[in-house]
Amino acid sequence: MKFEEIISKLGDARLIAVSKNVTTKEVINLYSKGQMDFGENRIQELKSKINMLSNLNINWHFIGRLQKNKINQMIDLHPTLWQSCDGFQSAYEVNRRLTYIMPTLLQINSADEITKQGIKKDEAIEEFIKIKEECNNINLIGLMSIGANTNDEKLVQKTFEDTYEIYEKLKKYGAKICSMGMSNDFELALKCGSNMVRLGTILYEK
Ligand SMILES: *Cc1c(COP(=O)(O)O)cnc(C)c1O
Repeated sequence: MKFEEIISKLGDARLIAVSKNVTTKEVINLYSKGQMDFGENRIQELKSKINMLSNLNINWHFIGRLQKNKINQMIDLHPTLWQSCDGFQSAYEVNRRLTYIMPTLLQINSADEITKQGIKKDEAIEEFIKIKEECNNINLIGLMSIGANTNDEKLVQKTFEDTYEIYEKLKKYGAKICSMGMSNDFELALKCGSNMVRLGTILYEK
């Protein structure tokens, strides 16, 4: 799919171009087409791209697992949005070291997959509110979720619908972003209410 075609499918949803498997050359190419939001899932790679592309006005998102020994590095990088906070414990650890306010999403493990990080669906609302109340430097503004890892579209749809339902309940607590949808399932995610998609592979196919 061409970049313009992908953009035309997004409506009002915001596109985060995931650059984890590509070089700065591809980032610059998309940037020249007007793309300003990029995501990385490793702190080391995020740091190196930020340094190499510091002359560009890019909003960098952190979308990966945060190891304890990388917390300070993430904080130093000032990500536009930390999309992958997996619960109160992580929020607490980051919060107590922060000296500024970090926009953050709570990651929901909506497919209940043990290989995936994120909070369980039935704990999400309570956890969201607890972070809001106790972590003043964490500005929780929504949810992030990865669709079920299966070809069964019904199952994927169910995980998106479940996440969206939680998102709706959290609107009154400040949730504004529902980040769901990747290359294989973003059109379905959009149908289910996503307003932020994170696309990697599909952006770089020739
Ligand atoms: C890699 C990744 C993406 C993008 O995946 P694609 O299938 O390449 O579009 C989106 N979100 C997260 C959290 C990722 O790690």
